[in-house]
Amino acid sequence: MKQTISIAAAILAVSIAMAGQPCSAQQADKPAAAQAEASDTRSDANVLKLRQQLYERLSIMSEVPWYRIAAIDQYERTLSKAKPKLRPQLGDVSGVFIEEEQWAGPLNPDVSDTSPVSIQWFNGVGRDGDGDGIADRNNDFDLLYSITSRLLQHGGSTEDDFSIGLWDYYRNSRAVQRIQQFAQIYAAHERLDLFEHAFPIPVGSNYSYRSTWGNARSWGGKRSHEGTDIFAPYGIPVRSTCYGIIEVKGWNPYGGWRIGIRDLNNYYHYYAHLQGFDKSIGVGSLVNPGQVIGWVGSSGYGKPGTQGKFPPHLHYGVYRDRGLIEWSFDPYPLLKKWETDERKRLRSNG
Ligand SMILES: [Zn+2]
Repeated sequence: MKQTISIAAAILAVSIAMAGQPCSAQQADKPAAAQAEASDTRSDANVLKLRQQLYERLSIMSEVPWYRIAAIDQYERTLSKAKPKLRPQLGDVSGVFIEEEQWAGPLNPDVSDTSPVSIQWFNGVGRDGDGDGIADRNNDFDLLYSITSRLLQHGGSTEDDFSIGLWDYYRNSRAVQRIQQFAQIYAAHERLDLFEHAFPIPVGSNYSYRSTWGNARSWGGKRSHEGTDIFAPYGIPVRSTCYGIIEVKGWNPYGGWRIGIRDLNNYYHYYAHLQGFDKSIGVGSLVNPGQVIGWVGSSGYGKPGTQGKFPPHLHYGVYRDRGLIEWSFDPYPLLKKWETDERKRLRSNG
């Protein structure tokens, strides 16, 4: 289940001012905490190859499937990206961050202890995974091995044991859900390179959009516009922008028929005012960039089935999970990039 704040965020992620009424400029009352990222800089092929090798090596040692290890590592990485000052990069290619005190053990007088024996004595998380006799907090394998060992502490390696271990470690149901979602995505695709994107509307079709970040809206009280409206005729396909998993699907009084998709960057992609959904997808379904998930409509602003209160358009929003809360950020620069990339691809394919 999504927690209250993200539900609130999703409810807030609603659309345009009513038909015919111009939007007045008003600053968003929530800071746009995250800058839109043009690309994942650490997803180049070489880094991914090194990570894959680490996960497979650890999987053999721990009997935890590689995709669960990959999911933990990726989840940790998304937290570090959201809070880079609090969570500096420790390893070379792993995203795992473990506090010094947690690594050495809370009562350990030597906070930078690297002795596996004394760390274990003080119940620290730090372990020596690569067998060099040092529990090295800056070593990729030791980091991953340590977190995996801690997760396995309370049981076996079944999926349920794994979930209990995750809960014990993070004490946060969102963390458990994210890692399970990431693991499902990795397991299905059997690879790490899953950061390709698509524009949500077929680029050859008739549509228009502009930056409307923070504009005031007139329906449902004082809310600012958290997303970009892409105007298009009824029935134009709406497509997933990413590799991801459907987290939410159904009616919402503001967003109408809407879908929420979680991706491996821990972004929540929100699509509102749809005319309908593609029949093949439901909560938990995996989607690929460009896959049709529904059609442009004008649903929303009332009880289920309400439509036609504004011109048909897709409201597209992106929220970033920062561990306990989610912030929306302006998707306009991302949309521009995906649109340009897709035009280029189409041209080069003749
Ligand atoms: Zn909108």
